[in-house]
Amino acid sequence: MIKPQYSFIIPIFNEEETIPELYKRVSAVMNQMEEAVELILVNDGSNDRSLEQIRTLRQQDTRVCYVSLARNFGHQIAVTAGLNFVRGQVAVILDADLQDPPELIPEMLGLWRQGYQVVYAQRSKRRHASWIKRLTAFSFYRLLQRLSDVKIPSDTGDFCLLDRQVVDLLNAMPERNRYIRGLRSWVGFRQTAIRFERDPRFAGQVKYTFRKSFALAINSILSFSQVPLRLATYLGLVSAGFALIMMLLVLYWRLFSLSPQLVGFSIITIAQFFLGAVQLICIGILGEYIGRIYEEVKARPLYTIGEIVGFTQTEDIVIESLSR
Ligand code: UDP
Ligand code: MG
Repeated sequence: MIKPQYSFIIPIFNEEETIPELYKRVSAVMNQMEEAVELILVNDGSNDRSLEQIRTLRQQDTRVCYVSLARNFGHQIAVTAGLNFVRGQVAVILDADLQDPPELIPEMLGLWRQGYQVVYAQRSKRRHASWIKRLTAFSFYRLLQRLSDVKIPSDTGDFCLLDRQVVDLLNAMPERNRYIRGLRSWVGFRQTAIRFERDPRFAGQVKYTFRKSFALAINSILSFSQVPLRLATYLGLVSAGFALIMMLLVLYWRLFSLSPQLVGFSIITIAQFFLGAVQLICIGILGEYIGRIYEEVKARPLYTIGEIVGFTQTEDIVIESLSR
């Protein structure tokens, strides 16, 4: 096989119901391309028939190559693994559930040829999401924008095109807590958006549970903002202000004797609860950052691989738990 020019990366976690349709639509787009394309499927520890389906696709189509992680490492790590294997000059990342229409890829490539190193897809509508998902997503992106020093565009997912230069930079970043949308904005270069309407999931259940989404949201804020640490200082200042007001109140009540014992008792109790809460919040915030420092210091490999197929010209390699 000649060296591909374009690499499409798709993370897959229990997508047996969508894989046939996914392949149909993605390969239709691949067939339109004048240059060679590789389709990198990353199996993120699926426990349904996804891996077997991927193996079959590989047998039918040599443009398909795959990495199968040794367990479920999560979406961001699966995409990271895919990026590590890119051989093309440009990479396109898309979800397996067809919420990111592959038919947009030619348009993205057009912008890349015009000289953009990053083209990200921005949702103009979330027609099919529940109001709670819409509300939380909306407020989260605005909060992140306010807190972060890097301008991370709102309402964008991981559906994007990345130039080789950006792929190399992302691959060189050693951090474990990877919020790819953030890192992608952080690198800079010429970036542009294309707007699209996000379709509903083609089939199957959402793989991003509320817990996973929440963890990703916390991660993105802590990875890209130090404002929460400053919050501790602000809270301290606010409680100092309260303490001052209470001191004045106590003094006032003492001088004008408004049942001094009862007032004094409740003020002390309230103040204790308040300060206790402030301290716990601050310790919690510190803990979140320290936990992440600990993660980074351990420097474990980001993932372990069960199987790699299609990336060498000669034989396919099948390796038991090879770490990067
Ligand atoms: N995914 C993954 N590992 C996970 C969770 C999800 O590789 O632990 C993949 C999943 O197969 C899909 C993509 O990430 O291709 C997005 O997941 P999903 O559609 O469930 O989430 P959404 O972003 O639409 O809420
Ligand atoms: Mg989805």
